[in-house]
Amino acid sequence: MPEKESRSRKSAQNLLNFIQKSPTSFHAAENAAAELERQGFVRLQENREWKLAPGGEYYVMRNGSSLIAFSIPEQPFEGFQMICSHTDSPAFKIKEIPELEGSGYVRLNVEKYGGALLVPWFDRPLSAAGRLLVRTPEGISSVLVNIDRDLLIIPSLAIHLNREANNGYKYQIQKDLCPLYTQGAGKRTFLALAAEEAGVKEEALLGAELYLYNRQKGTFTGADEEFISSPRLDDLQCLFASLQGFLQAENRRSIKMFCAFDNEEVGSRSRQGAASTFLPYTLERICCGLGGGREKLMTALASSFIISADNAHAVHPAYPEKSDAQNRPRMNGGIVIKYNAYQKYTTDARSAAVLKLLCGQAGVPWQTYVNHSDAAGGSTLGNILNAQVSPYTADIGLAQLAMHSPYETAGAEDSWYLEQAAKEFYSSALVVDEKENLRLE
Ligand code: ZN
Repeated sequence: MPEKESRSRKSAQNLLNFIQKSPTSFHAAENAAAELERQGFVRLQENREWKLAPGGEYYVMRNGSSLIAFSIPEQPFEGFQMICSHTDSPAFKIKEIPELEGSGYVRLNVEKYGGALLVPWFDRPLSAAGRLLVRTPEGISSVLVNIDRDLLIIPSLAIHLNREANNGYKYQIQKDLCPLYTQGAGKRTFLALAAEEAGVKEEALLGAELYLYNRQKGTFTGADEEFISSPRLDDLQCLFASLQGFLQAENRRSIKMFCAFDNEEVGSRSRQGAASTFLPYTLERICCGLGGGREKLMTALASSFIISADNAHAVHPAYPEKSDAQNRPRMNGGIVIKYNAYQKYTTDARSAAVLKLLCGQAGVPWQTYVNHSDAAGGSTLGNILNAQVSPYTADIGLAQLAMHSPYETAGAEDSWYLEQAAKEFYSSALVVDEKENLRLE
């Protein structure tokens, strides 16, 4: 296998391993934190004073599901180089009092989280993961849990009993999507099982946030194994690749920042989402922690760049008419630069120029995405972040199929491309002159 191919293969395999152990946003943030710890990053607490030093490497979490890591150069810094992605994916959240009894079965009561494609959730082994809130002698603590076995299934209704199933049937979440849990009503509650799995006493439980997840592992598909198919490629593919680029890059002139937010799939307006105070407060505290004031923050932000990295739609083989006539990304085609006249994507000609220059320097291909003019398309982090802090910003992604299915498909080479582009971006500082000419150093 040629060297480039084996490096991109390894990068894709590492991604699949990361996704496998990250069934929820809590686990994704926790696993990113563990990788940062291994590299010597120091954890900061939002409720403690930050004492930062030039050359220091730090990270901070909010809610256990959003994370910002940053690395400070030895010399005075120019601005911030940020890549932002999201930790969450569409799923089903298990409701309070989860058991639904009837017809000799117990099912679990769920509500939809985000814009999930419903049909692929049927007839495949599922389980549940998330966090438990537990009473301890000291107070309340949060414990991550993953019930790591094939536990649940959402059975379809047989075709004989629903002749309309293949004719665009409208599924109802409350009726159709509640997974089968047991026939043993009254024996062991679902929360008792989750508590046992987490090694905590059921009597000590004070709360739970648990989500269904698909048990099928990620794998390589295609005649030349040119595709990867896996749960949660949107957006753990961008998260993981930007984290690798972040960890590999050296930067002497700007503060490099890796940002991963929860709740993008439900609009980002939560305590820890991209629309929250998490990023602006962190930026301000970095400046203050280094002895600078608000003026320093404002000047630094004007020499900063945000890449909002969230996966993009590849042209679908059966539905080419759903894509734009020209700007139709393909898997393994490299970084997708996203444009939208209504500013759902923040890329403008200037920020795109920066990206094209960076990709060229990194030896990475790029391609463009614009919605079909008669389709609304989606939205993502970039424009929400721009309402909080407003440096130069661009939206990118990696091309994939079946977005928001519990099993998605993307290009096996593209993770490597984003790692390389992210490394190049994080190694650069943006210099802006008085005529707003940009230079990357
Ligand atoms: Zn996404």
